[in-house]
This record gives sequence, structure tokens and C-alpha cells, in this order.
Amino acid sequence: MESHYPTEINHIKAEGLIRITWDDGHVGEYAQAYLRGYCPCALCQGHGVQRNFVSVPGARLQEIRPVGNYAIEFRWQDGHSTGIYTYDYLRSLCPCSSCKEPQSDSA
Ligand SMILES: [Zn+2]
Ligand SMILES: [Zn+2]
Repeated sequence: MESHYPTEINHIKAEGLIRITWDDGHVGEYAQAYLRGYCPCALCQGHGVQRNFVSVPGARLQEIRPVGNYAIEFRWQDGHSTGIYTYDYLRSLCPCSSCKEPQSDSA
């Protein structure tokens, strides 16, 4: 799989959106509740192989911090900050229609 990295991350607070521009020019807009729901930390995801969506009504993003050169840490207003979103993971979450097309490698 091709790896991508974000060249720009904008937190659009008024709309509750996080807009990520990727090195290949692709732009993804992630609702903050969507990002929170897919928080990759062990607390939210448990130890299963399935990707879980954990609904957190009213989730608000407080801070975005880079982690090394491979991931982003999102800190939430309720104090949750254990989720480290790798670039690959973030890219795979992209909710835009072209990324949501069925892919041959997904079961
Ligand atoms: Zn979490
Ligand atoms: Zn996309």
C-alpha cells in the first residue's frame, strides 16, 4: 500500500471539522465526532481485529499534536488523549466518496 503524509491539517472549529491535505493533493474532511469515534487507542478499540466506532456525543477536539513523523495525536476536551492516529490509519478513515469506494483488498 502506498503511504501518504499530511502536508496541512486545519481544525475548522466553527464547523467541527478537521481538514487534512495530503502529499498527493487529496483533501479529506473529518467530522470531529467521526474521528473521535474511531479513536485507535486500546481503551476505545479493545483488542479485537474489528475496527469499532465508539460514539461520543458532543466530542470536541481541543488540540492537535504531531507525534514523530508518522502520526497525529488528537486531544479531546473531555481529557481523552490516548489515541495516536498514524498517517496510514487517518488516510484509511478518509470519509470522502472516492476513498469510500469498495477496494479490492478489503473483505
Ligand atoms: Zn481512545
Ligand atoms: Zn478521501
